[in-house]
Amino acid sequence: MQMSQLTPLLFASYWCTCGHGGAFRRYGFGAEYDLYAPNYPQDELFLIMGSAFAPQGYAWAFPRGNGRVRLGVGVIHPDNDEDARIYLDRIMRDIPQLAERFKGASPLEYHTGLFPSEGAVPGFSRDGLLLAGDAGGHGSTLVGEGIRFAIYSGQMAGETAAEAIKAGDTSAAYLGRFDQRWRSRFARDMDIAYMINKHIAAYSDAQWDSSLDLLKRLTPAQAAQALRGDFTASLVMGILARNPSLIATGGKRFLDKMLERINKPVAVSAE
Ligand SMILES: Cc1cc2nc3c(=O)[nH]c(=O)nc-3n(C[C@H](O)[C@H](O)[C@H](O)COP(=O)(O)OP(=O)(O)OC[C@H]3O[C@@H](n4cnc5c(N)ncnc54)[C@H](O)[C@@H]3O)c2cc1C
Repeated sequence: MQMSQLTPLLFASYWCTCGHGGAFRRYGFGAEYDLYAPNYPQDELFLIMGSAFAPQGYAWAFPRGNGRVRLGVGVIHPDNDEDARIYLDRIMRDIPQLAERFKGASPLEYHTGLFPSEGAVPGFSRDGLLLAGDAGGHGSTLVGEGIRFAIYSGQMAGETAAEAIKAGDTSAAYLGRFDQRWRSRFARDMDIAYMINKHIAAYSDAQWDSSLDLLKRLTPAQAAQALRGDFTASLVMGILARNPSLIATGGKRFLDKMLERINKPVAVSAE
């Protein structure tokens, strides 16, 4: 929170709705261990999908150096009402590839929490108030990545707040330039991330199995770009080029919808 005597301005980076509409209705419920796992290879990561271990969500094992690994699972409510904490222990115990890699591992931290999964809220600014980060629904719903986007939004909100204080105007009308800047930088990618999230959250196990063929054909650079949520027409065309069978299936229709969104101009009024 930051205050100036003349122009009080509040930053909210927590789930304060503060008159910005109701509470989030769709959210990822995550549970995660931060483990010391001396036998886990630090150059391998796992993304685990399927009803047995992460219904309507996914589980992850992300190494982060010095023998540390984050092992977690997220499920989406209200798409289901599962408890992520129960799946977390099952994953470490019942997936043979992980049981072997987590031999001798011990949890050092345990995290649980919620991540809004319904796109950005309609407005981020009110008189004397800016929302940034999870509070504004600014994270990418594709894989529940919020830290990087909370930092970007926080920087953008900070710059806007500094300008507002300099101008002596912290009204909603002035602060609305933050909404415009955020939308012109992020709205397109976040819309596409949410479109994909809703699509894959409904996948059956059989659909995941057939999607693995597609994922296997992506180059490492394409996979990294897609996971980062950096959606471009050349990425979509590249995926199609490596997966010609998509043209005959529903996958092509979905990629066409992505292209349509990529090419649609972002609706923001000029500053
Ligand atoms: C289990 C789990 C794993 C995750 N893993 C990743 C990951 O690997 N990578 C990634 O990018 N994202 C991850 N995320 C998402 C990421 O944690 C969030 O997107 C990110 O922390 C959002 O930052 P924020 O500052 O907006 O909100 P927060 O980090 O939630 O910070 C909000 C702060 O506000 C405080 N607060 C709450 N209420 C009030 C109040 N009334 N008054 C004052 N202060 C208040 C809270 O205590 C908190 O410190 C994960 C989320 C979960 C639940």
